[in-house]
Amino acid sequence: MRIAIVGCGQLSRMLALAGIPMGLKFSFINDNAQPDTTCVDGLGKVVAWQPGDEFSALYAALGEPDVVTVEKEQMNVELLIGLQAFCPVHPNPDAVKVCQDRHQERLLLDKLNIPCAGYVYGEPLDVCAEKLSLPMVIKSCRDGYDGKNQWVLKTPAEVMALEAEFAGQQPLNRDYIAEQFVPFDREVSQVSARAVNGDMRHYPLTENRHDKGILKQSIAPAPGASDQLQQLAQQHMASIASELDYAGVLAVEFFVCGEQLLVNELAPRVHNSGHWTQSGSDSCQFENHLRAITGIALGSTAMSGVAGMVNLIGTEKPALSTLTADSKLHWYDKSVRPGRKLGHMNFKAANTDLLLAGMSGFSRSLEG
Ligand code: AMP
Repeated sequence: MRIAIVGCGQLSRMLALAGIPMGLKFSFINDNAQPDTTCVDGLGKVVAWQPGDEFSALYAALGEPDVVTVEKEQMNVELLIGLQAFCPVHPNPDAVKVCQDRHQERLLLDKLNIPCAGYVYGEPLDVCAEKLSLPMVIKSCRDGYDGKNQWVLKTPAEVMALEAEFAGQQPLNRDYIAEQFVPFDREVSQVSARAVNGDMRHYPLTENRHDKGILKQSIAPAPGASDQLQQLAQQHMASIASELDYAGVLAVEFFVCGEQLLVNELAPRVHNSGHWTQSGSDSCQFENHLRAITGIALGSTAMSGVAGMVNLIGTEKPALSTLTADSKLHWYDKSVRPGRKLGHMNFKAANTDLLLAGMSGFSRSLEG
């Protein structure tokens, strides 16, 4: 069976590395003239595509895949729609489209009565400030991730300054939602797989720690998360995935406020906060994504002990001597640039204290 993946980054790489032992074959679509496709070197053919190119020629060049999937949401959905004429595409193009646009995501959540931060769409910034009161967070509807295209406004002067900046820009850049600033206790994510037949498997709720909008560390299960909170996250996940008629791995990011969960963002793909599953779960998110989209029974998401992940951002490859009996390095073979996700280290331990000790020891070794 052959799977074509849109994108040539680390998520495509890890999907292929999880599928090759099952005898799956892969090819990759370079849809944005990405010059650096080293992540997927040696894992399958890379085929370039740009709008206007024939879909039949693309499908043939990809080796006539049985399924097409994606490693990212920011892409031209016409590509997925075009390939749907030849084979199933999972997740479906409509689901990807909703997750590309923060306003569409909010409309979906409103429809399902799933709470998120109070927001305003389609109003000038001063009106948003009046309705939400400051501080508020402005997020462009599209192309915003890892805190990019996002502004925290605390004072009326900052509101006016951003208004002036937007005034000189193209309408698409000015398409934003304004959101209440949430004084959350912590951030967590629910990563789950939904099969074509609707079966679901959930990974435990994961706690995520960010620095300047970029994920730095994940810990699973989220320490101290009550059964009630876990169930709530799974219920929200199930209703979103079912509404989207979703197949594959889906990630939902939440803010935790007491025993309440507010959705921050949806990601229609395997997710950085699920990388720990490579060490900490019976079946990792990459394998379960492949199982979900190909109709194979989903794998167990049970874990023994606790697990965590430290992202390697803008750093050289750590010396292999930093590996311990309970840690595993995943290096993506990308060129080193500041702020770039280049790899991650996964950790396992019998309990959270031991896990945190191992993770912080490693993090310190990176700084020193
Ligand atoms: P995002 O790109 O939406 O995931 O946002 C990046 C980070 O900004 C999040 O992980 C939060 O730490 C922070 N953030 C986003 N939205 C809000 C909000 N409404 N209130 C407080 N912090 C936020």
